[in-house]
Amino acid sequence: MMPIETVSGAELEIDLAAIVANWRALGAAHPSGATAGVVKADGYGLGAARIAPALYEAGCRHFFVAHLSEALAIRELVPGALLGVLNGPLPGSEAEYVAAGIMPVLGSLDDIFRWAAEGRRAGRPLDALLHIDTGMNRLGLDARQLATLQADPSRLDGVSLRYVMTHLVSAEEPDDPINARQRVAFARACAGLPSAPRSLANSSGVFLGPEFASELARPGAALYGINPTPGRPNPMRGVIRLRARVLQVREIEAGESVGYNGIWTAARPSRIATACVGYADGWLRAQSGRGHAAFDGAPVPLVGRVSMDLTTYDVTDHPTLHAGDWLELIGPGLPAEQAALAAGTNGYEILTSLGARYARRYV
Ligand SMILES: *Cc1c(COP(=O)(O)O)cnc(C)c1O
Repeated sequence: MMPIETVSGAELEIDLAAIVANWRALGAAHPSGATAGVVKADGYGLGAARIAPALYEAGCRHFFVAHLSEALAIRELVPGALLGVLNGPLPGSEAEYVAAGIMPVLGSLDDIFRWAAEGRRAGRPLDALLHIDTGMNRLGLDARQLATLQADPSRLDGVSLRYVMTHLVSAEEPDDPINARQRVAFARACAGLPSAPRSLANSSGVFLGPEFASELARPGAALYGINPTPGRPNPMRGVIRLRARVLQVREIEAGESVGYNGIWTAARPSRIATACVGYADGWLRAQSGRGHAAFDGAPVPLVGRVSMDLTTYDVTDHPTLHAGDWLELIGPGLPAEQAALAAGTNGYEILTSLGARYARRYV
């Protein structure tokens, strides 16, 4: 359900031009091949129906989502572009893929068998990507399945292999030796398969250096401003601005507690700002008692439990802050990673949790 357009208590502003700029920067960092736009989970929570056309307009011709339903929702917005479904084809869904011109990522011998059969039914080879597992142990052909396929490549009759891909386990940790092991395993797998372009790097993989180059990079998070090189300066532009309005500011005495279960008690006479945002908006409850918002660029500590619709902040040191003012939750100088740190998660989860209740503005 779309929120009704009215005076809003919480706003999410999404900068489409910054997403496009990030896509171009990723392309420049990955000159060996094309750069896709991963727009799964509704564009990491920011709106695939707005983001995919903006990337398409900029020249992006490869898109990935996780579910067939997500692909169907944007198919007509990116005409002619490769649109791949990372989670693969569920049994019985094959005809829908063909009818809509959506490409499955085949991640098991069974996926291959069903897609090849669909190709024979259609009377023509059907486009697909092939996913080789090189260490993630989630999806993709494992070593035994790969050996079976390499011993009998006719299993791919009826399949037109557009890309062979794998997915990196720890690309954001460049010193993890698994990166090199996966690169070698992937090269070996490709050498034993019918020749096809390769797809390797996710966002962080793009920054692992030229050895991780391929014909198609698949960045998601970095498009949306999440730092693909944690611990180093973020090469990406910030994309969102999230703010919530202060509904009330109240004065409490030293010794009074704030919020459910009274997990925070004022050590001094304090001013508490109650902001119009809560865990129902994806402002994660795990941040309770940790983290901060910003007012006029200065940090404002979160105190007490985050509740469903409200979050409380200690504004004792901000005498100019009053009811009706806005607290910055994510924005310039306050990356999603900050909220992630407070909640014990990563920026990906902060973005994909962003709720449907915010007034969303695309700029
Ligand atoms: C989500 C996903 C990506 C994008 O990963 P980021 O880390 O967000 O860049 C790429 N490939 C696969 C298989 C994925 O599941």
